[in-house]
Amino acid sequence: MAPRLTLLTTGGTIAGQAASAADTTGYTAGALDPAALIAAVPGLAALAVLHCDAVFSIDSKDMTPAHWLALRARVQHHLARADCDGVIITHGTDTLEETAFFLHLTLPPGKPVVMTAAMRPATALSADGPMNLYQAVAVAAHPDSADKGVLVVVNGQIFAGADIVKTDTEALDAIAAPGRGPLGTAAPVRFFHPPALGRTGCIAPHALAGLSDLPRVDILQVAAGSAPDLLTAAVAAGARALVLALPGNGSLPQAWQRAVAQARAAGVTVVRSTRTAHGRVAHAADSALPPATGALNPPKARIALMLSLACGQPELATALFA
Ligand code: ASP
Repeated sequence: MAPRLTLLTTGGTIAGQAASAADTTGYTAGALDPAALIAAVPGLAALAVLHCDAVFSIDSKDMTPAHWLALRARVQHHLARADCDGVIITHGTDTLEETAFFLHLTLPPGKPVVMTAAMRPATALSADGPMNLYQAVAVAAHPDSADKGVLVVVNGQIFAGADIVKTDTEALDAIAAPGRGPLGTAAPVRFFHPPALGRTGCIAPHALAGLSDLPRVDILQVAAGSAPDLLTAAVAAGARALVLALPGNGSLPQAWQRAVAQARAAGVTVVRSTRTAHGRVAHAADSALPPATGALNPPKARIALMLSLACGQPELATALFA
């Protein structure tokens, strides 16, 4: 029997509509409904029996923690159905890495959860969305895709959802997993190596029950000569934790040290991440320095802190930064 899969749509460029087929930037994201997405992909019916759920119709720049929580609840609802063998989620590329990381931490491994996206709107010449959707369905339908945590299928490749970042504003291969690479190929579906599953679903299903938002955590980007009153303003605005996107290997300027110490003394968690595109931030022996975020970039470190604050488990963020 063909696998029974649920397609959850959230918007993004994959459902984007422009006035002209040559226009790849001036378009409305999330304009097309699931039926239109499916109609553009001949051959889907041969892969799976698809059930659709239009969750949001937004540009992923407008995605919020409240959307993550609502999406997770919908995914859990479908995964719990006996007649659902896996889900596919269409999403914008701009904040795909955040939603994928959030779902990676909050959904236990089990039935396949495959996210996909596109860089060109659905109306564009050589739109990449239809092939990405076809391949995402093929991956979700494949028996090897179970128990792998959240997967992202774009541009012919399968990535671990936790690993991806958007690395380019316009290129078709904008989604990548720097330092780790893809887990496999989507055509044919073939996994080269398993994902690092250590933290998959580390947030217990009941831990977020009833929540409609997450605690405020801000990211502050520090440039040469940036004034630390940015930090003071964020604390005054109610941030419970701060991720500093610092130069290089999480290097904290001297001018920021006092404000950081004051925020920490007031109970605000401060962590050191990097504004550098790739690489880990090393843990420092000096305990006066805020902890480093390890391999997590600022948006992912922010999610780790939001979830650990929401669950009242500070050790969770520490483990994710290891
Ligand atoms: N702004 C779009 C979005 O993230 C970009 C895309 O999907 O590629 O929704």
